[in-house]
Amino acid sequence: MCCSYPALRHGERLPERSNLPAEENHAAMRPEILNPLFRPVTSLAGVGPKIGEAMGRLLVGGDAPEPPRVADLLLHIPVGLIDRRNQPGIALSPEGAIVTLEVRIDRHMPAPRGNRRVPYRVMAHDDTGEIALVFFRSDNSFLERTMPVGETRFVSGKVEWFNGRPQMVHPDHIVDREAFEQLPMVEPVYPMTAGLARKTLGRALRGALDSLPELPEWLDPTLMSRQRWAAFKPTLETVHTPATPAELAPEGPAISRLAYDEFLANQLALMLTRANLRRAAGRARVGDGRMRRAITAALPFSLTGSQQAAIADIEKDLASGERMLRLLQGDVGSGKTMVGLMAAAIVIEAGSQAALMAPTELLARQHAKTLQPLADSAGIRMAILTGREKGKERAEILAGLDDGSIDLVVGTHAVFQAGVEFHDLALAIVDEQHRFGVHQRLALSAKGAATDILVMTATPIPRTLVLTAFGDMDVSKLPDKPAGRQPIETRTVPLERLDQVVERIRAAIAEGAKAYWVCPLVEESEEVDAAAAQDRFVDLQAALGPVVGLVHGRMKAAEKDEAMKRFQRGETRILVATTVIEVGVDVPDATIMVIEHAERFGLAQLHQLRGRVGRGSKASTCLLLYKGPLGEVAHDRLAIMRDTEDGFRIAEEDLRLRGEGELLGTRQSGTPGFKIARFEHHANLLEIARDDARLIVEKDPALQSPRGKALQLLLYLFGRDEAIKLLRAG
Ligand code: ADP
Ligand code: MG
Repeated sequence: MCCSYPALRHGERLPERSNLPAEENHAAMRPEILNPLFRPVTSLAGVGPKIGEAMGRLLVGGDAPEPPRVADLLLHIPVGLIDRRNQPGIALSPEGAIVTLEVRIDRHMPAPRGNRRVPYRVMAHDDTGEIALVFFRSDNSFLERTMPVGETRFVSGKVEWFNGRPQMVHPDHIVDREAFEQLPMVEPVYPMTAGLARKTLGRALRGALDSLPELPEWLDPTLMSRQRWAAFKPTLETVHTPATPAELAPEGPAISRLAYDEFLANQLALMLTRANLRRAAGRARVGDGRMRRAITAALPFSLTGSQQAAIADIEKDLASGERMLRLLQGDVGSGKTMVGLMAAAIVIEAGSQAALMAPTELLARQHAKTLQPLADSAGIRMAILTGREKGKERAEILAGLDDGSIDLVVGTHAVFQAGVEFHDLALAIVDEQHRFGVHQRLALSAKGAATDILVMTATPIPRTLVLTAFGDMDVSKLPDKPAGRQPIETRTVPLERLDQVVERIRAAIAEGAKAYWVCPLVEESEEVDAAAAQDRFVDLQAALGPVVGLVHGRMKAAEKDEAMKRFQRGETRILVATTVIEVGVDVPDATIMVIEHAERFGLAQLHQLRGRVGRGSKASTCLLLYKGPLGEVAHDRLAIMRDTEDGFRIAEEDLRLRGEGELLGTRQSGTPGFKIARFEHHANLLEIARDDARLIVEKDPALQSPRGKALQLLLYLFGRDEAIKLLRAG
């Protein structure tokens, strides 16, 4: 987890961990009552190092250095349930249902010798009908022993109907009456991993439940009775030993309670962090307006109404002395950079420093290039700092930031994570475009920093995501685009007509136009993408001559810069590119965007790419080249692109087509950052948890009341105990 963040005023430090190793340090502060839950799972009976490792893969994922804790195991909740009371009889078993059947074994039909593809069948019947139990690659003598002809057996498994006949392939259980009576009637089903038997997990969970102490209640009793929630321990008992499928329903009281606990821990940690930051900030920054006036005078345009409104919001935040955490939402091309610069100017007028972080080096350089002349005219001392500034140059910049002789630094996120000292950093501006992932890292890393934060994004982020990543965040929007912008005409063209497209472009550049040509993501590999772009570059150069340029992710930063500059200056008029140009590249006189294999791109990405044109006063065109036949989703995406330029609508459609996980760029299933809570089931609980947390922090900011102390346990249980350190420090 990333925790270093250099955004600190000189002489001010994050509430550092002591010199003890983190684990001991935590253990020392952690209330003793939790000790049994914070032991490694290997302390449970029947869990050795091997199983501990398998549980680690299951519970914490990947190559965690240590076995998971007992608490992690308890919060691993079942995904379903086997209900052995579901015994409808053979003929009445629905297709696909998991049932238990009490059957009489009639005959064995082994696979013919030497033909392993034909399964071994055992025919059996009950009062309602006959069923085939089917086994592939079976151990014949084992099957003969477990299912003697004429005996009664209980079999559980999934029933499938095949040509009007029922069968069960590889039943989960085949037992006699005696053994059946030993089995639990209802058994939870967990997400599993290799090397971990269901029985072993069940036994470990039993041990974990037994070691779970009765914990003091951290939830509000009124809320609990309204929601019919039980206490934490009985809730976990219910979840791990459910009696009916209803007890595991996501909206049912047991899972809901745990989801609420998880949301509350999240919201409380965020609120405590913010409260702490507010206390830390405590300094109002009021500029005298002189730099802003100089910038305005140097601009070739006047700011739009919504840009001015956003700047006014920010000015108020900065003057308030409370810490700012503001999201600036504005579609591609809406002019967010100017708002960022004006915000920076305010704190610089007040004698402090500002930093602008871009997601890529290319973009950092471009920002620097746009901002430099404006900074110069306002007397703002600006520097750029990326991985590329090295040696003496880098040392000078770092010194300038440390002694305050640099007012504004433009760079990439990476640099800011590497530990740069500032003399007095008042404002961090994060230019995110649409990659939301970094926001969350920011939320984590901004702990304790006294710096105001402005996040600029082109994607309207769903409120649920904002809440869980930041707690409440203020939002400014830039709904209107700068005046004089022409709409972009978007067309879809089958790839077969590539030659015609090339001819069209030839004609357009003869009249002075500039065009981007974006090559598709072939694989998740920059190398392969670069090769595709390289091939297209060679083709186009053969057709159109030396006016064709190339930029892709495998090129050195200096080469990329050079290619961009030549395109900007007009020495090249067609820029063949991979998606490196997706984010923020600004060449206002480029008016044609060709996207090859547009069907392979996501909506948000297509919208970002298209946003590279339509930035000047000339009409622009976007050609989406596709390879048919199109799947349904791809067809919808391209149709939406043709229909609208409205980023908010596109984001909504994108959500509809892809779901929240994709928007986050995480592609993981479920709700990111949460083990139990799911936005689709529990969004209403999130709002309640937010209000609850706010009230708690208002009334008991140090969490010292009896409920407050219980809430500290909650934070530990859900791994949000970072926030507890802030309590001690505060
Ligand atoms: P984005 O919101 O996508 O980051 P930019 O900040 O890159 O947008 O702005 C897009 C283009 O619009 C830039 O060329 C910028 O100089 C120009 N621009 C910004 N504000 C205005 C304005 N008020 N009037 C005209 N052009 C503007
Ligand atoms: Mg931008």
